[in-house]
Parts: sequence; C-alpha cells; structure tokens
Amino acid sequence: MSEFILNLTPQLYEYLLKSSLREPEILKKLRAQTRTMSTHKMQISPEQGQFMQLLVQLLGARKTLEIGVFTGYSTLAVASALPSYGKVIACDINVEWTTIAKRFWEEAGVLHKIDLRLGNALDTLQLLLDQGEANTFDFVFIDADKKNYSAYYEKSFQLTRPGGLIAIDNVLWAGDVADPAINDINTVMIRQLNEQLLVDERIRLSMLPLGDGLTLALKC
Ligand code: SAH
Ligand code: CA
Repeated sequence: MSEFILNLTPQLYEYLLKSSLREPEILKKLRAQTRTMSTHKMQISPEQGQFMQLLVQLLGARKTLEIGVFTGYSTLAVASALPSYGKVIACDINVEWTTIAKRFWEEAGVLHKIDLRLGNALDTLQLLLDQGEANTFDFVFIDADKKNYSAYYEKSFQLTRPGGLIAIDNVLWAGDVADPAINDINTVMIRQLNEQLLVDERIRLSMLPLGDGLTLALKC
C-alpha cells in the first residue's frame, strides 16, 4: 500500500480545476454572486458540483432530494444533470437565500424541475414519509444544519430506494472531526454520524476527501 497521501496544495488545486472543470456560465455566475456574501463558504465547490452531476447520471436519477439549498448552487448542478422530467425536492428555511436561488434556477431553465419546500427540513422529510414517499428517491444530498445530521440521515435512508445514493457533505468539517480537543455541537454531531455510518450494515460506504469531505452511502 502506498503510504503517500496527496496534499492538495493551492497550486495543485488550481491545476485540478484547470484540467477538469467544465462549469457552465450560469453556475459560474451564481458562484460569483454568492462570493459577495459573507456566508459564501457554505456553497459546495465547483468540482464537487460536477462530481454530483456525474453521480446523478450514473444512477439514472429522476427523483432527488436536497436538504440545504442556500443560494442554490448544488440544486442547480443536480437539476441540470436530470432529464427534463426529473425532480429535485429542495428543502431550506431561509427565504432570502432561496430567493436568489430561484432567480438563477429560472435563468438556467430548470425551475420546473425544482420543488422548493420552505420550512424545517425535518418536518418536510416527515411529511414526505407520511405521504407514502418512502423508498422512492434515487439520490439525496444532505447539507443543512449539522446538529440534525443523524436525523436527516435516518429519514433520508427511509426515503431512498434500494440502490439509491445518499451523499453527505462536510463530513471532514475542516479537519475538526479528527481533533479530539474540539467538541462543539456541530463537530460532535458530524463525528457521531461518521461513527454511526461506519457500522451501518444497510449501506455501502465511501468517504471522499472532496471539498470539505463527502460521504457516499449506497442503500443496499
Ligand atoms: N448545498 C448548498 C449549501 C447549503 S448551506 C450549496 O451548495 O450552496 C446550509 C443550508 O441549510 C442553509 O441555506 C440554511 O438555511 C439551511 N438550513 C439550516 N437549518 C435548516 C433546517 N432546520 N431546515 C432546512 N434548512 C436548514
Ligand atoms: Ca456544505
């Protein structure tokens, strides 16, 4: 086994982007607009967006769920990769941010694929379960408040079809999860979910050091 672990320096990261990123103009524009906001770091990176598009295409996904929209970059990436009859049920509580999102979805011509559900995502997920939508989603992206990560995962698991994929963002939490001295609520909850996933035999598991860490859980 190679003991060497690649360190993605800024120079190498630039190279990676230059050599592989195919970001459409509208996504680029949304990223530039979001960069002007103090909260811009919540947005996924463009190569992660491109990777999620690839996942959606591999799965042949039609029906997807997103928990945590912000200004809509990940939603737009996924929606663009879906067929015209595909759907994203997109959950967020913030009106201001999702208003920006809707503007860009409309300009991109994918608004018809996106069903924005404003409110506490846990309630939205429970409503979907109550409405009989268990086992129907091809792809779920979890990226909202970290304190509810375990609850989001459990409900997402129920909503995902066998063979469907759950992607969970920020699982490396800027490295904090690996530092036992850091025990704030967000770090603890992400660490807890990571531990829980490792022994969850209902899934196939892979944790990728992409962006801030992305876990893939394939429902068996
Ligand atoms: N996926 C987005 C980033 C999401 S940031 C992107 O790539 O751009 C996290 C989002 O979770 C924020 O927009 C926040 O409003 C939302 N959020 C936080 N708590 C929530 C809750 N309880 N229910 C629904 N959304 C929530
Ligand atoms: Ca995130």
